Amino acid sequence: MAKEIRNVLVSVAAMCCCAGNLQAAGGSLAKSDLEEAGRADRPMRTETNSQVVQKKEMSADFVVVGGGLSGICAAISAARHGINVALVQDRPMLGGNASSEMRMGIMGAHGDENKEAGILEELQLRNFYHNPLMRYTLWDDVMLSAVLGEKNITLLLNTSVDGVEMENGRISAVKAWNGNAYTRWTIRGRHFADCSGDGILRLSGAKFRIGREFPEEFGENFTQKGGDHRTMGNSILLQLRKTDEDHPFTPPAWAYRFTDADFENDAQPKEKGKHYSYKRLYPDNNNFWWIEFGGNLDTIGDANLIQLELKKIAYGVWAYMKNHPDGRCKGYDLDWIGSLPGKRESARFIGPHILTQHDVMSGGHFEDVVAYGGWTLDDHHPDAFWKKGHLSEHHVCPSPFGIPFDCLYSVNVPNLMFAGRDISCTHMGLSATRVMATCATMGQAVGTAAAVLLKYGIDPVQLRRERIAELQAMLEDDDCMLPFRWRKVSQLTSEAQCDAEIAILKNGIDRNYKKKDNGVWVAPGEVRIEYSWTSPKRISGARLVFDSDMRHRSKRMRKLEATTERVQMPKMLAKAFRIEARVGGEWHKVYEDRLNILRLRKVSFAPIDADALRLVVTESWGGGKAHVFAFDVR
Ligand SMILES: Cc1cc2nc3c(=O)[nH]c(=O)nc-3n(C[C@H](O)[C@H](O)[C@H](O)COP(=O)(O)OP(=O)(O)OC[C@H]3O[C@@H](n4cnc5c(N)ncnc54)[C@H](O)[C@@H]3O)c2cc1C
Repeated sequence: MAKEIRNVLVSVAAMCCCAGNLQAAGGSLAKSDLEEAGRADRPMRTETNSQVVQKKEMSADFVVVGGGLSGICAAISAARHGINVALVQDRPMLGGNASSEMRMGIMGAHGDENKEAGILEELQLRNFYHNPLMRYTLWDDVMLSAVLGEKNITLLLNTSVDGVEMENGRISAVKAWNGNAYTRWTIRGRHFADCSGDGILRLSGAKFRIGREFPEEFGENFTQKGGDHRTMGNSILLQLRKTDEDHPFTPPAWAYRFTDADFENDAQPKEKGKHYSYKRLYPDNNNFWWIEFGGNLDTIGDANLIQLELKKIAYGVWAYMKNHPDGRCKGYDLDWIGSLPGKRESARFIGPHILTQHDVMSGGHFEDVVAYGGWTLDDHHPDAFWKKGHLSEHHVCPSPFGIPFDCLYSVNVPNLMFAGRDISCTHMGLSATRVMATCATMGQAVGTAAAVLLKYGIDPVQLRRERIAELQAMLEDDDCMLPFRWRKVSQLTSEAQCDAEIAILKNGIDRNYKKKDNGVWVAPGEVRIEYSWTSPKRISGARLVFDSDMRHRSKRMRKLEATTERVQMPKMLAKAFRIEARVGGEWHKVYEDRLNILRLRKVSFAPIDADALRLVVTESWGGGKAHVFAFDVR
């Protein structure tokens, strides 16, 4: 059975909390381990026969620290390329700032044609299928299921990395504390990725920066002042719920008390190529990102002070809005308030290249491009909530802009890579790269790179020199768009003959681009997508890309949670399909799937010598025609 199918099944099983050979905190969690741990004949535990703190060790080829979107994508991509991965996450759930604990909506490159595919799109499609009411805690478990579905990943939740062991200038192990299980871990590895956002693996001595560069250093004229330790601040979000009732809100005694005078604004005039973001004091479409504080402090070292200050601000803001005499929040209640502030900016590692404002503004045409962004250069002022007027300046930049591999590995610790908001960039570069879909593309790049490193026994610096083309081709094959280039189709595919209107499936462009439809529409059961060869070819699989309607932002989690409206799977996505091969003039079914929920499918079947192969979509999610972008033969 194809791996993708197995993953869907495992995912369904995990979502239903069925038993299984799940990997989880503490290593393998097979049913037999649970039975052993719970044996009835075990004696009572006392100080004479048990330890308060356990010590455990494990090894992996690739250790990923941090389970936000960048870490998840790094772990899954590496695991799918066959290497053993330890994913170490300090929170009880995966997702980082995208999780139910934080609730940031996933943003990425602007433009309908630039949406991030790869593992991120897969996670979002799984979310649509398993979590149609779009509840945040279920989204956490969609991410969890995707990780548990990978047999090569050992997931350590509730486990905080707090040390490293070094050998000859390389990281040989990370030390971690699991406060849930009072367990001290040593996790050995060959390669490491810091996807922690805060760059905990700086403990290795890896070079880093915190703060804003002087504008002169890289000629970055967008930098607001610079040459200081200041950063963008941390935020606590609020989530509102529409209700039929209306009650005043009583804030805690320690919350700030705000009046209209506190929110007097001095709106900036519009300028070409630049716009501003302000506090939004009305309920509609508000996720309260602007409840932000701490940019003048140390967003890591002072994180606890910042947390309490943000709580005071957040309750004060809601009391001001809810109880406002103009009734602006009539019919809304506070449904949820965050506790752990999300961090926008802390430490940035130094790699062979530091991504700057100019790299972003010129589109990032790097020979070693492995990821991309396309958000604005969105720089928040360190005074944040306490600043009058705008909190953030957006400088419109090209979308997409390329991100090179040289920004994703350490300049001085040879086996350390990074992805997410701690990559090698300036403060201004970060203001565009930090959004989560962009972080996900970097994570997938770093995870795939780890597989290349292990395959050849090399370090990132050699990969960059000798194997970058291989890494780029692997990423493209895994449905990652890399700007300014397109995927090469397999030789069998390019040699195949087909009808003229089907040939578009062989152009390596797996999305609509420059307003051109790069796919083929097929009615259920229609036999149209067919390749043939003048002589039989040995065929053992196919790579398919179905249209999952990436153009629409509708796959984002919602700001208002209390809705009973269920999201629908994309109408044009193929739900059921089969592949048939022609041998000796007769067609044979070689593969069939009746429940597809994904965009990218790589399917394999018993090798067959066939002179033609065809794809028949038998059902779409909307009941009408399905849209197919690619049909590659392997
Ligand atoms: C208030 C706010 C609003 C934002 N709004 C948006 C938005 O609307 N859209 C958008 O796309 N982006 C938004 N961003 C930016 C975005 O959320 C972050 O830049 C992004 O989450 C970074 O991804 P990451 O994977 O690098 O880190 P994170 O998402 O922070 O994930 C890192 C994970 O690593 C864990 N970790 C940290 N240290 C350790 C350790 N020592 N051991 C083990 N685990 C560790 C963390 O707990 C966390 O779960 C916002 C950020 C903030 C703070």
